[in-house]
Amino acid sequence: MSAQIIDGKAISTRIHTEVTQQVAARKAAGKSTPGLATILVGDDPASHTYVNSKHRACEEAGINSFGFTLGADTSQERLEGLIRELNQDERVHGILVQSPLPKGLDEQHALSMLSIEKDVDGFHPVNIGRLAQKGPEPLFVSCTPAGVMVLLNETLSSIEGKHAVVLGRSNIVGMPVALLLVRANATVTICHSRTQDLPAMARQADILVAAIGRAEMVRGDWIKPGATVIDVGINHVEDSSRKKGYRLVGDVAFEEASEVAGAITPVPGGVGPMTIAMLLRNTLKAAEMSDS
Ligand code: NDP
Repeated sequence: MSAQIIDGKAISTRIHTEVTQQVAARKAAGKSTPGLATILVGDDPASHTYVNSKHRACEEAGINSFGFTLGADTSQERLEGLIRELNQDERVHGILVQSPLPKGLDEQHALSMLSIEKDVDGFHPVNIGRLAQKGPEPLFVSCTPAGVMVLLNETLSSIEGKHAVVLGRSNIVGMPVALLLVRANATVTICHSRTQDLPAMARQADILVAAIGRAEMVRGDWIKPGATVIDVGINHVEDSSRKKGYRLVGDVAFEEASEVAGAITPVPGGVGPMTIAMLLRNTLKAAEMSDS
């Protein structure tokens, strides 16, 4: 059997186009231009690359973006002072604090200073708490987990009643994905580094989400035949045949897994492109919320 390839690039391109059209329609109607502020602290090269691509995507979608780059020696007070200013700035509808912050800064405290109406990354403790509770909806869901759900909804006619196994329990991916799956009425098993017999757990999954950051750890014989596999992992492995000296692989051994799975995301081109698409969508939503 050869699995259906879930084309995150095509789906994210469609979302970019939809957001671009909706932003243009807002402007034509005389409403505010959505604005995203990014805060980047320190000089981690990967973080600079991520933030640059977020600004580029905003520009393409007609969203204003405001970049704030602070030195690695920035104090907690300075960082939180900037967040407070941006909370008040009417041109700014969404604020993103690029993770990780340099050592010595309290990320959780900084995130808790964000106005929850501007928390387009979905990491404010209130938004996370709402995700975990019945009742009030989170205003924003963090972008990679939200992207995973879009891919699943595009692939499956229904998530309800399916057994979903999530490998990984981080604050930014595993746990919010698991909570979203519960909200979608899946039966969810969360696995982590202390889980015993991971392959046996994974084999029970109708939906398998891998977010462990371990190159190609999930093998073909971990997959239940016909399962839907979402590979969130992005891992660099040495490859002297490539100009850069490395290639990107997921947490799933793609070739083996695609012989068994019903549908699977590739790496790159699966979950990766969804993250920025969801950020654009969340920024538009934040602007829409500020209309009323
Ligand atoms: P973390 O390192 O924060 O979390 C990894 C999780 O996997 C932890 O819960 C850990 O368990 C678990 N884990 C690690 N090793 C094993 C193992 N051998 N067996 C079982 N469980 C294990 O990673 P992130 O959640 O931040 O990221 C996961 C992957 O997703 C990475 O490859 C990252 O690059 C990628 N990623 C991709 C994004 C995108 O596509 N846009 C965005 C964010 C991340 P424990 O809790 O017990 O330590």
